[in-house]
Amino acid sequence: MSDFKFDKEAFKKEVKNNVKTLYRRTIDEATPQQTFQAVSYAVKEYIIDNWLATQEVYEKESPKTVYYLSMEFLMGRALGNNLINLTAYQDVKEALEEMGIDLNAVEDQEPDAALGNGGLGRLAACFLDSLTSLGYPAYGCGIRYHYGMFKQKIKNGYQVETPDNWLKNGNPFEVRRDEYAKEVRFGGTIRMQHNYETGRDEFIQENFESVLAIPYDMPIVGYGNNVVNTLRIWDAKAITSFRLDSFDRGEYHKAVEQENLAKTIVEVLYPNDNHYAGKELRLKQQYFFISASLQEAIDKYKRSNDDIRRLHEKVIFQMNDTHPTVAVAELMRLLMDEEGLSWDDAWNVTTKCCAYTNHTIMSEALEKWPIDLFSRLLPRVYQIVEEINRRFVEKVRQMYPGNEEKVRKMAILYDGQVKMAHLAIVAGFSVNGVAKLHTEILKHEELKDFYEMMPEKFNNKTNGITQRRFLLHGNPLLADWVTKHIGDKWITDLSEMAKLKPLADDPKARKEFMEIKYQNKIRLAKYIKEHNGIEVDPESIFDVQVKRLHEYKRQLLNILHVMYLYNQMKEHPEITFYPRTFIFGAKAAAGYKRAKQTIKLINSVADVINNDRSINGKIKVVFIEDYRVSNAELIFAAADVSEQISTASKEASGTGNMKFMLNGAPTLGTMDGANVEIVDEVGMENAFIFGLSSDEVINYENNGGYQPMDIYNSDWELKRVVDQLVDGTYANGDHELYRDLYNSLLNTKSSDRADTYFILKDFRSYAEAQKRVEAAYRDQDRWAKMALLNTASCGKFTSDRTIEEYVADIWKLKKVTVKPDPRL
Ligand SMILES: *Cc1c(COP(=O)(O)O)cnc(C)c1O
Repeated sequence: MSDFKFDKEAFKKEVKNNVKTLYRRTIDEATPQQTFQAVSYAVKEYIIDNWLATQEVYEKESPKTVYYLSMEFLMGRALGNNLINLTAYQDVKEALEEMGIDLNAVEDQEPDAALGNGGLGRLAACFLDSLTSLGYPAYGCGIRYHYGMFKQKIKNGYQVETPDNWLKNGNPFEVRRDEYAKEVRFGGTIRMQHNYETGRDEFIQENFESVLAIPYDMPIVGYGNNVVNTLRIWDAKAITSFRLDSFDRGEYHKAVEQENLAKTIVEVLYPNDNHYAGKELRLKQQYFFISASLQEAIDKYKRSNDDIRRLHEKVIFQMNDTHPTVAVAELMRLLMDEEGLSWDDAWNVTTKCCAYTNHTIMSEALEKWPIDLFSRLLPRVYQIVEEINRRFVEKVRQMYPGNEEKVRKMAILYDGQVKMAHLAIVAGFSVNGVAKLHTEILKHEELKDFYEMMPEKFNNKTNGITQRRFLLHGNPLLADWVTKHIGDKWITDLSEMAKLKPLADDPKARKEFMEIKYQNKIRLAKYIKEHNGIEVDPESIFDVQVKRLHEYKRQLLNILHVMYLYNQMKEHPEITFYPRTFIFGAKAAAGYKRAKQTIKLINSVADVINNDRSINGKIKVVFIEDYRVSNAELIFAAADVSEQISTASKEASGTGNMKFMLNGAPTLGTMDGANVEIVDEVGMENAFIFGLSSDEVINYENNGGYQPMDIYNSDWELKRVVDQLVDGTYANGDHELYRDLYNSLLNTKSSDRADTYFILKDFRSYAEAQKRVEAAYRDQDRWAKMALLNTASCGKFTSDRTIEEYVADIWKLKKVTVKPDPRL
């Protein structure tokens, strides 16, 4: 399948040579980090030729290209993945072994490229892998944050954030491209002047500040197909170099200001997941990378096409959530002010180029910029937004005469705010949700008015994940087992996994499957011992919840249930419990107090339970520090149970759920997001479903919530657990430490409803489902069958399928073929 030819001796020589030229050392003297760098540069050599060959095909054929615009790309490590996709992993592993070097240890030297928070950023990364492995022309466009997602330390049970200086040793795979630098302007004023030659009004920005955007390219290697696409992330540099000979005070200040703007703009990723903070610097980041990316897309188009009015025939901008939606107004600006198009021509192009993906319906995540901030920072772009809004509102009034309620709900500019989702829907030709249930909620609840006015724009694209990283790389034992049974086509066609289904009835296959899970649990147990100092029993059930910490994801429900189990165990030592290890991993946004409290609570419960000799280690609770893509790969492979327990209707899709399924962990979850489709595929009998439906949740919400006090007062076991938040049991006698969590469940004093996320409401149903998990696990044969059927039924959830749907319905791209470079 692959044309990759590997010359082992040449590779070894290259690694040794790299150590010499980079560090003036021999391979024996090299530090582990230096070895990682040397190996990476050697691998880069193999990538570069295909990268050049791919870009040559793009130059020659000028194919339609998707620009995936995203504030986040949660890439994780590159080396292992690049080797996997070059189909060179085994060869390189062997070559290094002959040099006495362990590839795993080399991989561990690479910092994660954590340019994202969670699911949304990881989706962008999986999409680039799938786009490239399928052979579609694509760019990822983002920001080269100097500091990515913070590193999490747990100190005394609390989350402590430290900066993620991921570039400190250099990034061996990136290439800086000064030749494509772009200027991006902020602020100042707009002067209109009439050009009598062209007969057009021109808009001239004056007294602005500007920065130079410098692209860094990262190769995205397709699986075994010679295609290498590009993730282009923009760094910032001051435009006027600091001139020491300038005695002009104004010039001096301006130079320093621009220096500072450049430095701050790409400094750090905002660590909020599903939460809008409204900071000016964030809007600067958004416009910075959008303007640079669009300028470059247009330049590139013009290098091989002459009619800018046909840009949409070659270019698609897919906007990953509302974060990049300033793109629609910026594209209008570039087309009118720089390319000389009329409004109508520019609008025709823009509305055929731009498409929008919605990721959430939660109100606190919706981006609404104050008009004064927006217009001050982006004066010309704002004028254009005003005009888009004026024309749209006119249309709404035409369609709904006398219905000002519609205008109030749908306008882009309203109440002193710029509503980015509305801008994206009005100017985009496609609006997609990320799972069936989510798209239905968009159409019939959150975006109802827009759906009624423009139903043709709405469509669903259920998320997916790449099996190359989350099985082939992350779980080599299971990957080999799958290949042994059904061949290796699954690597590029995950629907092949269905061929494993008959093996669920084969006792030998079931035993092998469970043995692999056991080996992966030993691997994770080692990691936990090394990183947490906690001994866990690989014979126990590994019950795992790893994802960002957020109230709607309900880690609190999970840990309250652990507290409940512990009470039961203490009260009834005679009851038999199957040993369980509850594993958590989660970062909380730095300013999200309640989320941080929950982390502290999990660690306090862990402390008490793990150190109680009287329960014989029947329950262990582990909080894995610094959850990120690289340790996620180990965690999914080792999980028995996948906790997907969000309040129904709140998790748009989830993708963690899919990674667990792929690795043979049945879902314990609510009918939310893609869980619904997972159950469709694997069957209700191979999952553990509980809780309110999304309709029920939405119903309660539309009628003022429910009364958690009724449950608290009628369920004494649950009452006891809730009371333990404030009786000092898990706080060394401190009654106040978890008071806010307690209040969040019961108290209506705070501005929001009590128990907004229906934790007490769903508690009994959850506990019941947990009992079913235990019963199922006791029957090892039944469990093996269930786990195996999860892996066998995961075909739909590859991001390859998702990308093919985007291509067919939205992007209309054609595949390219890239031959290996004959110069090789
Ligand atoms: C997949 C993934 C996520 C998303 O997980 P959800 O459970 O869908 O929220 C977040 N972080 C990392 C590191 C991931 O790999």
